[in-house]
Amino acid sequence: MDLHPHVMTASTEAGTGTRFWIFPQPPFIPGYEQPDRVWLSILPNEIFPGPSDARMYVADPLYSKQPYGYSRLPPFNGISRPPVHAGPDGHFDSLDPLSRPYLGVHAYACIHRVLEIWQSYLGHRVQWFFDATFPRLEIIPLVEWDNAQAGYGFLELGRSDVGGTPRPYALNFDAIAHEVGHLIIFSEIGVPVGASRESEFFPFSEGFSDCVSLISFLSFDSAVDRLLRRTKGDLLLYNELNRFAETSPETQIRLATNFRRMSEVTRDPHDRALPFVGAVFDTIVELYHRNLVANGSAERRLLDVDLRHLTLNEFDRFRELTAQSFRTKPLYFQLALEKARDDVGRALAISLKKLDARTLTFNQAAGSILDAADGAVAEAFRASFAWREISY
Ligand SMILES: [Zn+2]
Repeated sequence: MDLHPHVMTASTEAGTGTRFWIFPQPPFIPGYEQPDRVWLSILPNEIFPGPSDARMYVADPLYSKQPYGYSRLPPFNGISRPPVHAGPDGHFDSLDPLSRPYLGVHAYACIHRVLEIWQSYLGHRVQWFFDATFPRLEIIPLVEWDNAQAGYGFLELGRSDVGGTPRPYALNFDAIAHEVGHLIIFSEIGVPVGASRESEFFPFSEGFSDCVSLISFLSFDSAVDRLLRRTKGDLLLYNELNRFAETSPETQIRLATNFRRMSEVTRDPHDRALPFVGAVFDTIVELYHRNLVANGSAERRLLDVDLRHLTLNEFDRFRELTAQSFRTKPLYFQLALEKARDDVGRALAISLKKLDARTLTFNQAAGSILDAADGAVAEAFRASFAWREISY
């Protein structure tokens, strides 16, 4: 037994990871003004000023930089802003998360966070698909562009302009997680060079990256807590969820709660991705229901009714019961959602092992997800894909 724990603190803490600030949603979204203090697995002595490490580094241009393109690739060779140093304790949470220098630190922390989550699901380290040319990912926290992109050796973030106020995507966890999603897909299943005409690689990678974003967002305890409190646990009801989603401040949830089927979408990659994203979200909700029933927080009847066709009375009754149950045992609602999130995340990640970028279709992707999932998880996916007209 250690009688002097305070003496041990510095050295033992240094061995457990490094602290950063992350905004789970951009700080201008009501309810998300405060960042979360998160631990990343990377150790303080593995991080150098920048921040930079063996896998990635921040290059923050002093003057405005145009986005990378076919003829322009890393490394950035213009004048950079000074690299950001950790605080005296080796951590980054003593710095002001809203200061200009922190933009790069925030992007760096978000990328690590998303990688940690998906490497957990994958069961291995993501090996950059560009590592034959560039050993490290270059992170550009601010470019002159209203967009964000990840490509061969880089991830760069622009900004949107809302009423004259710039909103940098470097503070937008959704946008960053989505781009990391693209990097994970390329790294796991390759690039679609010489893809067949039937290949749905581009819509799939948009949809999958949105799922990476949604599931990564749900990895914040604070986000799960806020979501459940605002809905009183009522992810239970499609109708309510959809109504709630239209005004939801969380971008990923707005995207994911749609009712599009494959026969209704165009060839546009973002539009064509919607049924897949919707199917994944429906599966999370369905598994959340099952987990709630299993832990005694919801009636068994919930699983038997078609929630898309509830009468208004039934709908109100379910909502009231759910709210009551949530007030009594919010912990079980959290656990139910977290388990659903991880079961779906793991199936998505493992499904990549069997996919090939050159020939990929949504039907193949669905088949691979079903193979990767077991029991009730596969069953929930099967029903969701069927409703979306994604056959396997
Ligand atoms: Zn994208």
